[in-house]
Amino acid sequence: MPDIAAIVAEIAGEMRNAEDRGTVASYIPPLASVPIDKFGIAVVLADGAVHVAGDADEAFSIQSISKVFALTLALGAVGDQLWSRVGREPSGSAFNSIVQLETEHGIPRNPFINAGAIVVCDVLLGRLQPREAIGQMLRFVRELAGDDEAIRLDETVARAEQDTGFRNIALANYMRAFGNIHGDVRMVLGTYFHFCALAMSCRQLAMAGRYLMDGGRVDGHRIVTASRARRIAALMMSCGHYDNSGDFAFRIGLPGKSGVGGGILAVAPGIASIAVWSPGLNEAGNSHLGQRALERLVQRTGWSVFEPREG
Ligand code: GLN
Repeated sequence: MPDIAAIVAEIAGEMRNAEDRGTVASYIPPLASVPIDKFGIAVVLADGAVHVAGDADEAFSIQSISKVFALTLALGAVGDQLWSRVGREPSGSAFNSIVQLETEHGIPRNPFINAGAIVVCDVLLGRLQPREAIGQMLRFVRELAGDDEAIRLDETVARAEQDTGFRNIALANYMRAFGNIHGDVRMVLGTYFHFCALAMSCRQLAMAGRYLMDGGRVDGHRIVTASRARRIAALMMSCGHYDNSGDFAFRIGLPGKSGVGGGILAVAPGIASIAVWSPGLNEAGNSHLGQRALERLVQRTGWSVFEPREG
């Protein structure tokens, strides 16, 4: 095993001084004021060792990373029936794009673009009230992160999205017209915005990703089956970075999911669960330095899933 503590510290040092940091998302007002100079990284290894550097203990808005946890909950609720309402193909379009929905009859390409995650929320609301679904999500990420009561929902972010998320409102109404949203559009969106408003640190997020590193288990408890964990990771690889997913696989070669808060959760199956955070984004809405940091990490560790393994 390479010296992860040293590598993580080195990456944080390099990213602290980086000049080109991307652009902070401004379409969600509270995110616009997050300082661009933040950078955090946390690596949780299969043996439980945790290595962190930079702003790894500062909570940030996980935004679309919550789509991984929402998908996990929806698969738990309805199993493979979910796939009649959302696809499993990369969209090749922006995370908030509406164009494919017209020709594809309101069925979003995958659960990691906004339209897909909105359908996932609607599926959860088939059995729960919004308040219950939001409570279930909060309990779930706390459990995954190791009972971390400190994880909370940022109501200011949720409210801001409710007030300004016109694209998401359009997506939900459009899918409602196709019959692929069954519940009350406002309640579905309220749930979706609250999921996006989860605030977590890199350390908490990397802890929460352990089930995807370890075949569906956390500390010996089964969260999902091994085959489900593999499938969720496959979707992260093919769709986790929107129209930038191919480039992420090319450069980093790990299942990963980004959010416009500048976080990325990535997993090296059997080896590590990794979270990085830097609020400046590239044009596709993915953390610019977060991706660079992960690229450095896989270069130094050989953790890409495409790296030949012994045995
Ligand atoms: N809440 C954001 C939105 O719906 C999530 C997008 C993202 O993180 N890519 O626009």
